[in-house]
Amino acid sequence: MAEERKENNEEKKSLNFIEAIIEQDLKEGKHKQIYTRFPPEPNGYLHIGHAQAICLNFGLAEKYSGKCNLRFDDTNPEKEDVEYVESIKSDIKWLGFQWEGNVKYTSDYFDKLYEFAVKLIKENKAYVCELSPEQIREYRGTPTEPGKESPWRNRPVEESLKLLEGMKNGDFEEGKYMLRAKIDMSSPNMHMRDPILYRIKKAEHHRTGNKWSIYPMYDFAHGQSDYFEGITHSVCTLEFEVHRPLYDWFIDQLKTGDYRPRQIEFARLNLNYTVMSKRKLLQLVEEKIVSGWDDPRMPTISGLRRRGYTPAAIRKFADRVGVAKRDGIIDVALLEHSIREDLNKTANRVMGVLKPLKVIIDNYPEEQEEFLDAVNNPENESKGKRQVPFSKELYIEQDDFMENPPRKFFRLGIGREVRLRYAYFVKCTHVDKDENGTITAVHCTYDPASKGGKSPDGRKVKGTLHWVSANHAVKSEVRLYDRLFTVENPLGDKEKDFKEFINPNSLQVIENALLEPHLLNAKQGDRFQFERLGYFCVDKDSTKDKLVFNRTVSLRDTWAKIKNK
Ligand code: ATP
Ligand code: MG
Repeated sequence: MAEERKENNEEKKSLNFIEAIIEQDLKEGKHKQIYTRFPPEPNGYLHIGHAQAICLNFGLAEKYSGKCNLRFDDTNPEKEDVEYVESIKSDIKWLGFQWEGNVKYTSDYFDKLYEFAVKLIKENKAYVCELSPEQIREYRGTPTEPGKESPWRNRPVEESLKLLEGMKNGDFEEGKYMLRAKIDMSSPNMHMRDPILYRIKKAEHHRTGNKWSIYPMYDFAHGQSDYFEGITHSVCTLEFEVHRPLYDWFIDQLKTGDYRPRQIEFARLNLNYTVMSKRKLLQLVEEKIVSGWDDPRMPTISGLRRRGYTPAAIRKFADRVGVAKRDGIIDVALLEHSIREDLNKTANRVMGVLKPLKVIIDNYPEEQEEFLDAVNNPENESKGKRQVPFSKELYIEQDDFMENPPRKFFRLGIGREVRLRYAYFVKCTHVDKDENGTITAVHCTYDPASKGGKSPDGRKVKGTLHWVSANHAVKSEVRLYDRLFTVENPLGDKEKDFKEFINPNSLQVIENALLEPHLLNAKQGDRFQFERLGYFCVDKDSTKDKLVFNRTVSLRDTWAKIKNK
Protein backbone atom coordinates (compact mmCIF):
# COMPACT_ATOMS: atom_id res chain seq x y z
CA MET A 1 0.00 0.00 0.00
CA ALA A 2 2.77 2.40 0.92
CA GLU A 3 4.49 1.70 -2.38
CA GLU A 4 1.35 2.34 -4.31
CA ARG A 5 0.94 5.61 -2.48
CA LYS A 6 4.41 6.78 -3.38
CA GLU A 7 3.66 6.25 -7.05
CA ASN A 8 0.41 8.16 -6.79
CA ASN A 9 2.12 11.03 -5.08
CA GLU A 10 4.42 11.82 -7.92
CA GLU A 11 3.15 15.41 -8.02
CA LYS A 12 6.45 17.07 -7.12
CA LYS A 13 6.09 19.48 -4.27
CA SER A 14 8.54 21.49 -2.26
CA LEU A 15 9.17 20.32 1.30
CA ASN A 16 6.85 21.56 4.01
CA PHE A 17 8.49 23.11 7.06
CA ILE A 18 8.33 19.90 9.10
CA GLU A 19 9.95 17.87 6.32
CA ALA A 20 12.63 20.55 6.04
CA ILE A 21 13.44 20.19 9.75
CA ILE A 22 13.53 16.41 9.50
CA GLU A 23 15.79 16.41 6.45
CA GLN A 24 18.14 18.81 8.19
CA ASP A 25 18.21 16.64 11.35
CA LEU A 26 18.93 13.55 9.26
CA LYS A 27 21.63 15.34 7.28
CA GLU A 28 23.33 16.52 10.44
CA GLY A 29 23.27 12.97 11.76
CA LYS A 30 21.12 13.84 14.78
CA HIS A 31 19.12 10.70 14.13
CA LYS A 32 19.65 7.65 11.96
CA GLN A 33 15.95 6.99 11.72
CA ILE A 34 13.03 9.23 12.53
CA TYR A 35 10.36 8.17 14.97
CA THR A 36 6.98 9.92 15.21
CA ARG A 37 3.75 9.11 17.04
CA PHE A 38 0.05 9.81 16.97
CA PRO A 39 -1.15 10.34 20.57
CA PRO A 40 -4.96 10.47 20.82
CA GLU A 41 -6.88 10.63 24.05
CA PRO A 42 -9.42 7.78 23.95
CA ASN A 43 -12.34 10.03 24.92
CA GLY A 44 -14.24 10.12 21.63
CA TYR A 45 -14.17 9.06 18.00
CA LEU A 46 -11.59 10.57 15.69
CA HIS A 47 -12.52 13.38 13.35
CA ILE A 48 -11.13 14.73 10.10
CA GLY A 49 -8.69 16.94 12.04
CA HIS A 50 -7.22 13.83 13.62
CA ALA A 51 -7.08 12.28 10.16
CA GLN A 52 -4.82 15.11 9.14
CA ALA A 53 -2.55 14.50 12.15
CA ILE A 54 -2.53 10.76 11.36
CA CYS A 55 -1.63 11.32 7.70
CA LEU A 56 1.09 13.71 8.81
CA ASN A 57 2.73 11.52 11.46
CA PHE A 58 2.40 8.18 9.72
CA GLY A 59 3.13 9.86 6.39
CA LEU A 60 6.42 11.32 7.66
CA ALA A 61 7.49 7.93 9.00
CA GLU A 62 6.64 6.36 5.65
CA LYS A 63 8.39 9.02 3.61
CA TYR A 64 11.62 8.87 5.62
CA SER A 65 11.57 5.10 6.27
CA GLY A 66 11.05 5.73 9.95
CA LYS A 67 8.59 4.46 12.52
CA CYS A 68 5.36 5.78 13.99
CA ASN A 69 3.74 4.78 17.28
CA LEU A 70 0.11 4.81 18.19
CA ARG A 71 -0.04 5.89 21.80
CA PHE A 72 -3.21 6.38 23.76
CA ASP A 73 -2.88 9.29 26.14
CA ASP A 74 -5.01 7.69 28.80
CA THR A 75 -4.52 9.96 31.82
CA ASN A 76 -8.19 10.88 32.29
CA PRO A 77 -9.86 7.67 33.47
CA GLU A 78 -13.40 9.05 33.87
CA LYS A 79 -13.78 10.14 30.27
CA GLU A 80 -12.09 7.22 28.58
CA ASP A 81 -13.48 4.07 27.20
CA VAL A 82 -12.41 0.86 25.45
CA GLU A 83 -15.02 1.55 22.76
CA TYR A 84 -13.03 4.63 21.80
CA VAL A 85 -9.74 2.72 21.81
CA GLU A 86 -11.14 0.17 19.38
CA SER A 87 -12.71 2.74 17.08
CA ILE A 88 -9.47 4.74 16.92
CA LYS A 89 -7.46 1.65 16.00
CA SER A 90 -9.85 0.69 13.24
CA ASP A 91 -9.97 4.25 11.86
CA ILE A 92 -6.18 4.37 11.57
CA LYS A 93 -6.07 1.01 9.82
CA TRP A 94 -8.87 2.02 7.51
CA LEU A 95 -6.91 5.13 6.52
CA GLY A 96 -4.18 2.72 5.44
CA PHE A 97 -1.61 3.05 8.20
CA GLN A 98 0.02 0.62 10.60
CA TRP A 99 1.69 1.61 13.84
CA GLU A 100 5.04 0.29 14.97
CA GLY A 101 4.85 -2.82 17.19
CA ASN A 102 2.24 -2.97 19.91
CA VAL A 103 -0.17 -0.19 20.66
CA LYS A 104 1.32 2.01 23.38
CA TYR A 105 -0.47 3.60 26.32
CA THR A 106 0.62 6.42 28.58
CA SER A 107 -0.58 4.17 31.38
CA ASP A 108 2.32 1.83 30.45
CA TYR A 109 4.51 4.53 31.98
CA PHE A 110 2.57 5.23 35.18
CA ASP A 111 5.28 3.51 37.26
CA LYS A 112 8.11 5.36 35.51
CA LEU A 113 6.30 8.67 35.84
CA TYR A 114 5.78 8.04 39.53
CA GLU A 115 9.47 7.29 39.98
CA PHE A 116 10.26 10.47 38.14
CA ALA A 117 7.96 12.43 40.46
CA VAL A 118 9.76 10.95 43.48
CA LYS A 119 13.09 11.94 41.93
CA LEU A 120 11.86 15.52 41.47
CA ILE A 121 10.78 15.72 45.13
CA LYS A 122 14.11 14.33 46.26
CA GLU A 123 15.92 16.96 44.19
CA ASN A 124 13.69 19.59 45.78
CA LYS A 125 12.01 20.31 42.42
CA ALA A 126 8.49 19.23 43.43
CA TYR A 127 6.30 19.43 46.53
CA VAL A 128 2.92 18.36 47.81
CA CYS A 129 0.61 21.35 48.00
CA GLU A 130 -2.54 21.71 50.13
CA LEU A 131 -4.08 24.70 48.45
CA SER A 132 -7.55 24.06 47.08
CA PRO A 133 -7.97 24.08 43.28
CA GLU A 134 -9.57 27.54 43.58
CA GLN A 135 -6.67 28.85 45.66
CA ILE A 136 -4.17 27.40 43.23
CA ARG A 137 -5.88 29.31 40.46
CA GLU A 138 -5.85 32.49 42.53
CA TYR A 139 -2.18 32.12 43.46
CA ARG A 140 -1.21 31.58 39.83
CA GLY A 141 -1.60 35.27 38.97
CA THR A 142 -2.43 36.46 35.46
CA PRO A 143 -0.40 36.75 32.27
CA THR A 144 0.54 40.30 33.29
CA GLU A 145 0.94 39.78 37.04
CA PRO A 146 3.27 37.28 38.69
CA GLY A 147 1.84 34.54 40.86
CA LYS A 148 2.28 34.00 44.60
CA GLU A 149 4.23 31.15 46.10
CA SER A 150 2.26 28.45 47.87
CA PRO A 151 2.76 28.30 51.66
CA TRP A 152 3.54 24.59 51.14
CA ARG A 153 6.30 25.24 48.66
CA ASN A 154 9.10 24.75 51.12
CA ARG A 155 7.76 21.82 53.04
CA PRO A 156 10.48 19.28 53.85
CA VAL A 157 11.31 16.73 51.15
CA GLU A 158 10.57 13.82 53.49
CA GLU A 159 7.08 15.15 54.18
CA SER A 160 6.27 15.50 50.47
CA LEU A 161 7.55 11.99 49.81
CA LYS A 162 5.33 10.54 52.50
CA LEU A 163 2.28 12.48 51.37
CA LEU A 164 2.75 11.48 47.75
CA GLU A 165 2.88 7.85 48.79
CA GLY A 166 -0.32 8.33 50.81
CA MET A 167 -1.96 9.99 47.81
CA LYS A 168 -0.99 7.05 45.65
CA ASN A 169 -2.36 4.55 48.16
CA GLY A 170 -5.73 6.25 48.37
CA ASP A 171 -5.33 7.53 51.94
CA PHE A 172 -6.79 10.97 51.16
CA GLU A 173 -9.89 12.47 49.66
CA GLU A 174 -9.84 13.89 46.13
CA GLY A 175 -8.72 17.52 46.07
CA LYS A 176 -6.93 17.34 49.43
CA TYR A 177 -3.42 17.31 48.00
CA MET A 178 -1.67 17.86 44.70
CA LEU A 179 1.89 17.31 43.63
CA ARG A 180 3.36 20.40 42.00
CA ALA A 181 6.65 21.13 40.31
CA LYS A 182 8.75 23.83 41.92
CA ILE A 183 9.72 26.05 39.02
CA ASP A 184 8.98 29.77 38.98
CA MET A 185 5.84 31.55 40.20
CA SER A 186 6.85 34.75 38.46
CA SER A 187 7.62 33.25 35.07
CA PRO A 188 5.95 35.16 32.23
CA ASN A 189 4.87 31.73 30.97
CA MET A 190 1.92 30.70 33.15
CA HIS A 191 2.65 27.01 32.49
CA MET A 192 5.92 27.36 34.40
CA ARG A 193 4.24 28.62 37.59
CA ASP A 194 4.54 25.49 39.67
CA PRO A 195 2.34 23.32 37.44
CA ILE A 196 0.35 20.43 38.89
CA LEU A 197 1.92 17.02 38.24
CA TYR A 198 -0.48 14.68 40.03
CA ARG A 199 -4.00 14.94 41.40
CA ILE A 200 -5.93 12.45 43.49
CA LYS A 201 -8.58 10.69 41.47
CA LYS A 202 -10.35 7.65 42.85
CA ALA A 203 -11.45 6.45 39.49
CA GLU A 204 -11.13 3.05 37.90
CA HIS A 205 -8.90 3.09 34.85
CA HIS A 206 -9.80 1.02 31.79
CA ARG A 207 -6.33 -0.54 31.83
CA THR A 208 -4.83 -0.20 35.31
CA GLY A 209 -8.08 -0.84 37.18
CA ASN A 210 -7.91 0.40 40.78
CA LYS A 211 -4.14 0.28 41.12
CA TRP A 212 -3.79 4.06 41.20
CA SER A 213 -5.52 6.72 43.24
CA ILE A 214 -3.51 9.43 41.56
CA TYR A 215 -3.18 10.18 37.87
CA PRO A 216 -0.55 12.30 36.14
CA MET A 217 -1.61 15.51 34.42
CA TYR A 218 -1.43 15.43 30.63
CA ASP A 219 1.42 17.94 30.70
CA PHE A 220 3.43 15.77 33.07
CA ALA A 221 2.88 12.64 31.00
CA HIS A 222 2.98 13.70 27.39
CA GLY A 223 6.56 14.85 26.79
CA GLN A 224 8.01 12.13 29.00
CA SER A 225 6.09 9.44 27.15
CA ASP A 226 7.67 10.69 23.93
CA TYR A 227 11.05 10.51 25.66
CA PHE A 228 10.48 6.97 26.97
CA GLU A 229 9.55 5.82 23.46
CA GLY A 230 12.52 7.42 21.75
CA ILE A 231 10.36 9.68 19.62
CA THR A 232 12.57 11.98 17.53
CA HIS A 233 9.96 14.43 16.27
CA SER A 234 6.91 15.19 18.41
CA VAL A 235 4.53 16.81 16.01
CA CYS A 236 1.56 18.51 17.68
CA THR A 237 -0.89 21.34 17.22
CA LEU A 238 -0.11 25.00 17.87
CA GLU A 239 -1.78 25.29 21.27
CA PHE A 240 1.10 23.25 22.70
CA GLU A 241 3.70 25.78 21.67
CA VAL A 242 3.36 27.59 25.03
CA HIS A 243 3.72 24.26 26.84
CA ARG A 244 7.04 23.53 25.18
CA PRO A 245 9.25 25.28 27.79
CA LEU A 246 7.61 23.13 30.47
CA TYR A 247 8.08 19.93 28.47
CA ASP A 248 11.70 20.92 27.93
CA TRP A 249 12.13 21.54 31.65
CA PHE A 250 10.84 18.04 32.46
CA ILE A 251 13.12 16.44 29.89
CA ASP A 252 16.08 18.42 31.25
CA GLN A 253 15.47 16.83 34.65
CA LEU A 254 15.04 13.39 33.14
CA LYS A 255 17.54 12.99 30.33
CA THR A 256 20.80 11.20 30.77
CA GLY A 257 22.38 11.73 27.32
CA ASP A 258 22.04 14.04 24.33
CA TYR A 259 18.76 12.65 23.11
CA ARG A 260 15.53 14.59 23.49
CA PRO A 261 12.37 14.60 21.39
CA ARG A 262 11.98 17.69 19.25
CA GLN A 263 8.53 19.22 19.42
CA ILE A 264 7.21 20.84 16.25
CA GLU A 265 3.86 22.60 16.20
CA PHE A 266 1.49 23.01 13.24
CA ALA A 267 -1.92 24.63 12.84
CA ARG A 268 -4.87 22.39 13.58
CA LEU A 269 -7.33 21.75 10.80
CA ASN A 270 -10.59 23.68 10.99
CA LEU A 271 -13.40 23.08 8.52
CA ASN A 272 -16.33 25.39 7.94
CA TYR A 273 -19.97 24.36 8.52
CA THR A 274 -19.00 21.89 11.23
CA VAL A 275 -17.49 21.61 14.70
CA MET A 276 -14.41 19.62 15.44
CA SER A 277 -14.10 19.31 19.18
CA LYS A 278 -14.70 15.87 20.60
CA ARG A 279 -16.61 17.40 23.48
CA LYS A 280 -19.02 19.15 21.11
CA LEU A 281 -19.37 16.07 18.92
CA LEU A 282 -20.14 14.01 22.03
CA GLN A 283 -22.95 16.44 22.86
CA LEU A 284 -24.48 15.91 19.43
CA VAL A 285 -24.37 12.16 20.01
CA GLU A 286 -25.63 12.19 23.61
CA GLU A 287 -28.46 14.59 22.87
CA LYS A 288 -29.40 12.47 19.86
CA ILE A 289 -29.13 15.36 17.44
CA VAL A 290 -27.32 12.89 15.22
CA SER A 291 -27.82 9.11 15.11
CA GLY A 292 -24.36 8.32 16.52
CA TRP A 293 -20.64 8.97 16.11
CA ASP A 294 -20.90 7.48 12.63
CA ASP A 295 -23.86 9.55 11.49
CA PRO A 296 -22.93 10.41 7.88
CA ARG A 297 -23.26 14.13 8.67
CA MET A 298 -20.57 13.98 11.35
CA PRO A 299 -17.01 15.12 10.56
CA THR A 300 -15.76 11.93 12.24
CA ILE A 301 -13.73 9.41 10.27
CA SER A 302 -16.43 6.82 10.95
CA GLY A 303 -19.11 9.26 9.75
CA LEU A 304 -17.19 10.03 6.58
CA ARG A 305 -16.61 6.32 5.99
CA ARG A 306 -20.32 5.58 6.32
CA ARG A 307 -21.07 8.54 4.08
CA GLY A 308 -19.00 6.86 1.38
CA TYR A 309 -15.65 8.63 1.63
CA THR A 310 -12.62 6.59 0.64
CA PRO A 311 -9.30 6.49 2.53
CA ALA A 312 -7.56 7.72 -0.62
CA ALA A 313 -9.78 10.81 -0.79
CA ILE A 314 -9.12 11.68 2.84
CA ARG A 315 -5.38 11.21 2.45
CA LYS A 316 -5.42 13.37 -0.66
CA PHE A 317 -7.36 16.03 1.22
CA ALA A 318 -4.85 15.99 4.09
CA ASP A 319 -2.08 16.31 1.56
CA ARG A 320 -3.73 19.28 -0.12
CA VAL A 321 -4.37 21.04 3.18
CA GLY A 322 -0.73 20.52 4.04
CA VAL A 323 0.81 21.91 7.22
CA ALA A 324 0.59 25.54 8.19
CA LYS A 325 2.05 27.53 11.02
CA ARG A 326 -0.98 29.70 11.45
CA ASP A 327 -4.59 28.77 12.12
CA GLY A 328 -7.05 29.06 9.28
CA ILE A 329 -10.34 27.60 8.15
CA ILE A 330 -10.50 25.17 5.26
CA ASP A 331 -13.53 25.19 2.99
CA VAL A 332 -15.43 21.92 3.21
CA ALA A 333 -15.76 22.21 -0.59
CA LEU A 334 -12.12 21.09 -0.76
CA LEU A 335 -12.97 17.86 1.08
CA GLU A 336 -15.92 17.30 -1.24
CA HIS A 337 -13.72 17.97 -4.24
CA SER A 338 -11.29 15.28 -3.10
CA ILE A 339 -13.95 12.59 -2.85
CA ARG A 340 -15.51 13.53 -6.20
CA GLU A 341 -12.15 13.33 -7.87
CA ASP A 342 -11.54 9.86 -6.44
CA LEU A 343 -15.00 8.45 -7.11
CA ASN A 344 -15.07 9.87 -10.62
CA LYS A 345 -12.26 7.45 -11.42
CA THR A 346 -13.45 4.47 -9.41
CA ALA A 347 -17.25 4.44 -9.07
CA ASN A 348 -19.41 2.66 -11.63
CA ARG A 349 -22.27 4.62 -13.14
CA VAL A 350 -25.84 3.49 -12.69
CA MET A 351 -29.26 5.02 -13.14
CA GLY A 352 -31.74 5.74 -10.40
CA VAL A 353 -34.71 8.06 -10.07
CA LEU A 354 -35.25 9.84 -6.76
CA LYS A 355 -38.63 11.46 -7.45
CA PRO A 356 -40.29 9.29 -10.05
CA LEU A 357 -42.63 10.51 -12.77
CA LYS A 358 -44.17 7.85 -15.01
CA VAL A 359 -43.48 7.91 -18.74
CA ILE A 360 -45.51 5.79 -21.17
CA ILE A 361 -44.06 5.15 -24.63
CA ASP A 362 -47.27 4.83 -26.64
CA ASN A 363 -45.73 3.36 -29.79
CA TYR A 364 -43.64 0.74 -27.91
CA PRO A 365 -45.12 -2.78 -27.97
CA GLU A 366 -46.96 -3.74 -24.78
CA GLU A 367 -45.11 -6.94 -23.83
CA GLN A 368 -41.71 -6.08 -25.20
CA GLU A 369 -38.54 -5.64 -23.18
CA GLU A 370 -34.99 -5.01 -24.31
CA PHE A 371 -31.62 -5.03 -22.61
CA LEU A 372 -29.47 -2.12 -23.65
CA ASP A 373 -25.73 -1.70 -23.27
CA ALA A 374 -24.65 0.86 -20.69
CA VAL A 375 -21.06 1.94 -20.01
CA ASN A 376 -19.97 1.35 -16.42
CA ASN A 377 -17.35 4.03 -16.24
CA PRO A 378 -16.48 6.37 -19.11
CA GLU A 379 -13.24 7.24 -17.25
CA ASN A 380 -12.14 3.63 -17.23
CA GLU A 381 -12.93 1.38 -20.16
CA SER A 382 -11.80 -1.76 -18.35
CA LYS A 383 -14.89 -1.50 -16.14
CA GLY A 384 -16.87 -2.73 -19.13
CA LYS A 385 -20.58 -2.59 -19.76
CA ARG A 386 -23.78 -3.79 -18.21
CA GLN A 387 -27.29 -4.31 -19.53
CA VAL A 388 -30.15 -2.05 -18.58
CA PRO A 389 -33.75 -3.15 -19.17
CA PHE A 390 -36.07 -0.95 -21.23
CA SER A 391 -39.84 -1.32 -21.66
CA LYS A 392 -43.04 0.57 -22.44
CA GLU A 393 -43.40 2.12 -19.00
CA LEU A 394 -40.53 4.01 -17.47
CA TYR A 395 -39.82 6.52 -14.76
CA ILE A 396 -37.91 9.77 -15.10
CA GLU A 397 -37.17 12.45 -12.54
CA GLN A 398 -40.08 14.83 -11.83
CA ASP A 399 -37.66 17.72 -12.16
CA ASP A 400 -36.84 16.64 -15.71
CA PHE A 401 -40.31 17.44 -17.00
CA MET A 402 -42.25 20.67 -17.42
CA GLU A 403 -45.58 20.93 -19.13
CA ASN A 404 -44.83 24.38 -20.52
CA PRO A 405 -41.08 24.79 -20.21
CA PRO A 406 -39.22 28.03 -20.86
CA ARG A 407 -36.90 28.02 -23.86
CA LYS A 408 -33.77 27.36 -21.80
CA PHE A 409 -35.16 24.23 -20.13
CA PHE A 410 -33.04 21.49 -21.70
CA ARG A 411 -35.20 18.62 -20.59
CA LEU A 412 -38.58 17.18 -21.48
CA GLY A 413 -41.75 19.19 -22.21
CA ILE A 414 -44.79 18.76 -24.41
CA GLY A 415 -43.68 18.70 -28.05
CA ARG A 416 -40.01 18.35 -27.10
CA GLU A 417 -37.60 15.55 -27.87
CA VAL A 418 -34.88 14.26 -25.50
CA ARG A 419 -32.52 11.33 -25.36
CA LEU A 420 -33.04 8.64 -22.74
CA ARG A 421 -29.51 7.67 -21.81
CA TYR A 422 -28.32 4.48 -23.62
CA ALA A 423 -31.87 3.98 -25.00
CA TYR A 424 -33.81 6.07 -27.51
CA PHE A 425 -34.93 9.52 -28.50
CA VAL A 426 -38.42 10.15 -27.12
CA LYS A 427 -40.83 12.98 -27.85
CA CYS A 428 -43.57 14.05 -25.48
CA THR A 429 -47.09 14.18 -26.91
CA HIS A 430 -49.39 14.80 -23.95
CA VAL A 431 -49.87 14.19 -20.23
CA ASP A 432 -52.46 12.55 -17.94
CA LYS A 433 -53.67 14.46 -14.91
CA ASP A 434 -55.70 13.58 -11.85
CA GLU A 435 -58.68 15.56 -10.58
CA ASN A 436 -56.34 18.03 -8.83
CA GLY A 437 -54.48 18.77 -12.01
CA THR A 438 -51.36 16.91 -10.91
CA ILE A 439 -49.54 15.16 -13.73
CA THR A 440 -49.76 11.39 -13.28
CA ALA A 441 -48.08 10.23 -16.48
CA VAL A 442 -46.23 11.65 -19.45
CA HIS A 443 -46.94 10.16 -22.86
CA CYS A 444 -44.18 9.92 -25.45
CA THR A 445 -43.38 8.29 -28.73
CA TYR A 446 -39.95 6.84 -29.39
CA ASP A 447 -37.86 6.71 -32.53
CA PRO A 448 -36.82 3.04 -33.07
CA ALA A 449 -34.01 4.26 -35.33
CA SER A 450 -32.29 6.01 -32.42
CA LYS A 451 -31.40 2.82 -30.53
CA GLY A 452 -28.52 3.26 -28.10
CA GLY A 453 -29.41 6.94 -27.88
CA LYS A 454 -27.70 7.69 -31.19
CA SER A 455 -29.15 10.29 -33.52
CA PRO A 456 -30.39 8.50 -36.67
CA ASP A 457 -30.08 11.54 -38.95
CA GLY A 458 -27.88 14.07 -37.20
CA ARG A 459 -30.78 15.82 -35.50
CA LYS A 460 -30.06 17.22 -32.05
CA VAL A 461 -32.17 16.82 -28.93
CA LYS A 462 -32.65 19.11 -25.97
CA GLY A 463 -30.91 16.96 -23.38
CA THR A 464 -30.18 13.51 -22.03
CA LEU A 465 -32.19 12.11 -19.15
CA HIS A 466 -31.68 9.19 -16.78
CA TRP A 467 -34.56 6.76 -16.34
CA VAL A 468 -35.52 3.32 -15.06
CA SER A 469 -37.90 0.71 -16.44
CA ALA A 470 -41.06 0.57 -14.30
CA ASN A 471 -41.39 -3.21 -14.29
CA HIS A 472 -37.75 -3.86 -13.53
CA ALA A 473 -36.84 -1.09 -11.10
CA VAL A 474 -35.97 -1.86 -7.48
CA LYS A 475 -37.20 0.30 -4.65
CA SER A 476 -34.72 1.86 -2.28
CA GLU A 477 -34.50 4.32 0.53
CA VAL A 478 -32.11 7.12 -0.30
CA ARG A 479 -30.70 9.52 2.27
CA LEU A 480 -29.58 12.92 1.10
CA TYR A 481 -27.36 15.05 3.30
CA ASP A 482 -26.69 18.69 3.61
CA ARG A 483 -24.31 20.55 5.93
CA LEU A 484 -24.95 19.90 9.59
CA PHE A 485 -24.81 23.60 10.43
CA THR A 486 -26.32 26.59 8.67
CA VAL A 487 -23.38 28.90 9.38
CA GLU A 488 -19.71 28.67 8.51
CA ASN A 489 -18.58 28.92 12.11
CA PRO A 490 -21.12 27.50 14.58
CA LEU A 491 -18.85 28.49 17.47
CA GLY A 492 -18.40 32.04 16.24
CA ASP A 493 -21.23 33.60 18.26
CA LYS A 494 -20.26 33.45 21.93
CA GLU A 495 -23.77 34.51 23.00
CA LYS A 496 -25.36 31.47 21.41
CA ASP A 497 -25.16 27.74 21.83
CA PHE A 498 -23.66 26.11 18.75
CA LYS A 499 -26.63 23.76 18.53
CA GLU A 500 -28.88 26.68 17.63
CA PHE A 501 -27.20 26.62 14.23
CA ILE A 502 -28.04 23.01 13.42
CA ASN A 503 -29.42 22.77 9.90
CA PRO A 504 -32.94 21.29 10.26
CA ASN A 505 -32.74 20.04 6.67
CA SER A 506 -29.40 18.30 6.95
CA LEU A 507 -31.03 14.92 6.38
CA GLN A 508 -33.68 14.26 3.76
CA VAL A 509 -35.00 10.73 3.46
CA ILE A 510 -36.48 9.59 0.17
CA GLU A 511 -38.51 6.50 0.86
CA ASN A 512 -39.24 5.25 -2.61
CA ALA A 513 -36.45 5.93 -5.00
CA LEU A 514 -36.36 3.59 -8.01
CA LEU A 515 -33.08 2.11 -9.16
CA GLU A 516 -31.95 -0.06 -12.01
CA PRO A 517 -32.21 -3.77 -11.04
CA HIS A 518 -28.45 -4.26 -11.24
CA LEU A 519 -28.26 -2.60 -7.80
CA LEU A 520 -30.03 -5.49 -6.08
CA ASN A 521 -26.61 -7.12 -5.84
CA ALA A 522 -24.93 -4.12 -4.22
CA LYS A 523 -23.24 -4.80 -0.89
CA GLN A 524 -22.69 -2.57 2.11
CA GLY A 525 -20.05 0.02 1.35
CA ASP A 526 -20.31 -0.33 -2.46
CA ARG A 527 -20.08 3.03 -4.18
CA PHE A 528 -21.77 4.23 -7.38
CA GLN A 529 -22.40 7.31 -9.35
CA PHE A 530 -26.13 7.71 -9.92
CA GLU A 531 -26.00 9.53 -13.22
CA ARG A 532 -26.69 13.24 -12.88
CA LEU A 533 -27.46 12.91 -9.15
CA GLY A 534 -24.16 12.35 -7.39
CA TYR A 535 -22.16 9.60 -5.72
CA PHE A 536 -23.94 7.13 -3.48
CA CYS A 537 -22.99 4.20 -1.28
CA VAL A 538 -24.86 1.35 0.34
CA ASP A 539 -25.52 2.12 3.99
CA LYS A 540 -25.06 -0.32 6.88
CA ASP A 541 -28.84 -0.20 7.44
CA SER A 542 -29.36 -1.83 4.04
CA THR A 543 -30.86 -5.34 4.07
CA LYS A 544 -31.88 -7.88 1.45
CA ASP A 545 -35.46 -6.67 1.74
CA LYS A 546 -34.73 -3.00 1.84
CA LEU A 547 -31.88 -1.26 0.09
CA VAL A 548 -30.60 1.92 1.74
CA PHE A 549 -28.25 4.33 0.00
CA ASN A 550 -26.44 7.42 1.28
CA ARG A 551 -25.54 10.24 -1.00
CA THR A 552 -21.84 10.83 -0.44
CA VAL A 553 -21.73 14.02 -2.44
CA SER A 554 -23.57 15.66 -5.31
CA LEU A 555 -21.89 16.16 -8.68
CA ARG A 556 -21.64 19.93 -8.53
CA ASP A 557 -18.09 20.83 -7.69
CA THR A 558 -17.99 24.28 -6.15
CA TRP A 559 -14.32 23.90 -5.35
CA ALA A 560 -13.33 23.25 -8.95
CA LYS A 561 -15.22 26.43 -9.84
CA ILE A 562 -13.38 28.47 -7.23
CA LYS A 563 -10.08 26.97 -8.36
CA ASN A 564 -10.62 27.77 -12.04
CA LYS A 565 -11.74 31.34 -11.55
P1 ATP B 1 -10.38 17.73 20.29
O1 ATP B 1 -10.01 19.12 20.68
O2 ATP B 1 -11.08 17.59 19.00
O3 ATP B 1 -11.04 16.98 21.37
P2 ATP B 1 -7.81 16.83 20.98
O4 ATP B 1 -6.66 17.62 20.53
O5 ATP B 1 -8.20 16.94 22.39
O6 ATP B 1 -8.99 17.05 19.98
P3 ATP B 1 -6.40 14.39 20.99
O7 ATP B 1 -6.96 13.05 21.16
O8 ATP B 1 -5.57 14.95 22.05
O9 ATP B 1 -7.61 15.32 20.67
O10 ATP B 1 -5.65 14.49 19.59
C1 ATP B 1 -4.69 13.58 19.15
C2 ATP B 1 -3.79 14.25 18.19
O11 ATP B 1 -4.51 14.79 17.11
C3 ATP B 1 -3.05 15.41 18.85
O12 ATP B 1 -1.70 15.30 18.53
C4 ATP B 1 -3.67 16.62 18.25
O13 ATP B 1 -2.72 17.64 18.15
C5 ATP B 1 -4.17 16.14 16.89
N1 ATP B 1 -5.35 16.90 16.50
C6 ATP B 1 -6.49 17.06 17.20
N2 ATP B 1 -7.35 17.85 16.56
C7 ATP B 1 -6.75 18.22 15.40
C8 ATP B 1 -7.11 19.03 14.29
N3 ATP B 1 -8.28 19.66 14.25
N4 ATP B 1 -6.23 19.17 13.28
C9 ATP B 1 -5.06 18.54 13.31
N5 ATP B 1 -4.65 17.75 14.31
C10 ATP B 1 -5.47 17.59 15.36
MG1 MG C 1 -6.30 16.66 23.69
